Amino acid sequence: MTLRSVPELIAIKRDGGALSEAQIRRLIEGFTAGEVADYQMTALAMAIYLNGMSPKETAALTLAMRDSGRVVKLTKAPGRYVDKHSTGGVGDKVSICLAPIVAACGVRVPMVSGRGLGHTGGTLDKLEAIEGFSVDMSTAQFVKQVDALGCALIGQTKDIAPADKRLYALRDVSATVASVPLITASILSKKLAEGIDGLVLDVKVGRGAFMQTLDDARELAKNLVRVGKLAKKKVTAVLTTMDSPLGRTIGNSIETREAIELLHDRAPADLKEITFVLGAQMLRLAGIEKHEARAREMMQQTLTTGTARDKLREIVAAQGGDARVVDEPDRLSVAKTRVKVKAPKAGYVHRIDAMEVGLTGVLMGAGRTRADQAVDHSVGVTLTAVRGDRVAEGDVLAELHVQSRKGTKDLAERVAAAYDIKRARPKLQPLVLDIVR
Ligand code: URA
Repeated sequence: MTLRSVPELIAIKRDGGALSEAQIRRLIEGFTAGEVADYQMTALAMAIYLNGMSPKETAALTLAMRDSGRVVKLTKAPGRYVDKHSTGGVGDKVSICLAPIVAACGVRVPMVSGRGLGHTGGTLDKLEAIEGFSVDMSTAQFVKQVDALGCALIGQTKDIAPADKRLYALRDVSATVASVPLITASILSKKLAEGIDGLVLDVKVGRGAFMQTLDDARELAKNLVRVGKLAKKKVTAVLTTMDSPLGRTIGNSIETREAIELLHDRAPADLKEITFVLGAQMLRLAGIEKHEARAREMMQQTLTTGTARDKLREIVAAQGGDARVVDEPDRLSVAKTRVKVKAPKAGYVHRIDAMEVGLTGVLMGAGRTRADQAVDHSVGVTLTAVRGDRVAEGDVLAELHVQSRKGTKDLAERVAAAYDIKRARPKLQPLVLDIVR
């Protein structure tokens, strides 16, 4: 094989060519070792974004990124290890409630999550809204906690797919997120490195998702399932709608609060439905319950009897957080200043453009526009009116939680404009669009 320089390899992808498995491995190994610079990797990401990758290249990229660190060896404790990952959405706080619910049902959940990406929020940023909660731990501590509690909620340890951790941060700020091969490699490299038996993927579709059409989302779902199976894992992808934000909150503290509210069975119906649909798939892959109705009953029991709250309390305490938030979610700190967003006209809410609300959240400081930026956990948007609601002119549609009123007029206008209000009653789209196995 001809030896080519890094700029030559980038040029192959830029010009629409295909890279060999060995070339992809060299690039990822070089990036992990610091020999391929961030700007070269960003250029490669843009070339992949624009020209795509073949299934063979995508699989090679995924496995090279998985092998940039080591594959965790979980203990041989009874029960299967199953995780869930979302391709990213707005208001998507599902991991925070789902993990303790299914762990309370007996699934072992070694969950490695990400930070906010583009206009979407990230589980790690949301968890860090809990005072003292640490998402950083060594691989050995991770294995020990999953063994003891059946669940840990962490970020990538330094040995779990480090190439993804760095590439993820570059993609977040270089407009290279919404790419089937890059998302596939990003999600699966870290998930395959966790040492799991099975994985449920929530592939989001619509305005607030990276895949805006059902066809694109289906392609991503099939890719994820194919590459996951190639790595000998049980994988199921659920296609779910992400036109409007999930639940009623967008922002770190308020989303964590809403996820905890679900454990008290006080959450919005759409959030509970998505949590239960994904949870039922996890219980199936874990070999605990293959009938959806019985799986739902089992999950409902964890809310009714409080075992899911017990599990989250244990996890939060083990990770250094203030576990009192589980019983008193109002302890999560939310910015005191509130700005009301009023309805410009009367009618029914057909859609709340999730992308616009997500981007407004980023502008408020809930997400990042530069890789080295910190997020403000306390800011966000609470949706007072949601899909299907009828509003009168001047009714409150939403509230912004901000540090000061400065500049909030534009933010409020942007959220108001995200509301699609029409006279006729809307026909609401189903939340679950398809399941790919
Ligand atoms: N989630 C990830 O972990 N990676 C992506 O690229 C998108 C969503």
